[in-house]
Amino acid sequence: MSDPCTEGIGNCTKTQRDIVKRAFQDASAMLARAQDALIAYEKKPAAPSNRKVVTALKKHFNWTEALMASPSPGEVRVTPDYIPGKAREYIRTLMGKISVPFGAICPANDQQREQLNPQHKGDIVKILAAALQDNTNCFMYTPDYFRQKPEFRAKVVLHEMFHSWKYMSDDSYEGDAKYPGKVGNATENPDSYACLIRDIGRR
Ligand SMILES: [Zn+2]
Repeated sequence: MSDPCTEGIGNCTKTQRDIVKRAFQDASAMLARAQDALIAYEKKPAAPSNRKVVTALKKHFNWTEALMASPSPGEVRVTPDYIPGKAREYIRTLMGKISVPFGAICPANDQQREQLNPQHKGDIVKILAAALQDNTNCFMYTPDYFRQKPEFRAKVVLHEMFHSWKYMSDDSYEGDAKYPGKVGNATENPDSYACLIRDIGRR
């Protein structure tokens, strides 16, 4: 199978590559902090210091503790929709993949972009990047991507990693009227996880 990141279509400038490199570094730090935040939350869900995790779980998944049927007081039943545990597991996967050397493609126009055929075209419109191949960090970035803030760029890298390493498809994007939908919709939604990690992994 051909590798779009080495085919020479839409080569990035040195400046663009440096920006993508920084986005991966920022994303890596976010993952580590998000993991710590989730571990702390699971130890003491009601602690005031874990409030930001509670808020982010609701905002990005419509998930609350109340969704968990408690077999006995204080005990939380772990189900497939237990988002804190699922997010922690996925974060661990991404932490193991974020150091895989990245590939970056920076098409200058729509014509070049067409040749690259992204799997998730909605991303180009909504988050200004797209994954091109599973099991890689080879992503396409639009000119607009480079005009965004560093935090957004790091979040986008995480979003694309959920496509390429966890094979998720988009259900909704932050800012959409239907975002995040019910827990069942959000449970495999890349933007829900990427935004959660951004919010609870903020310095
Ligand atoms: Zn996507």
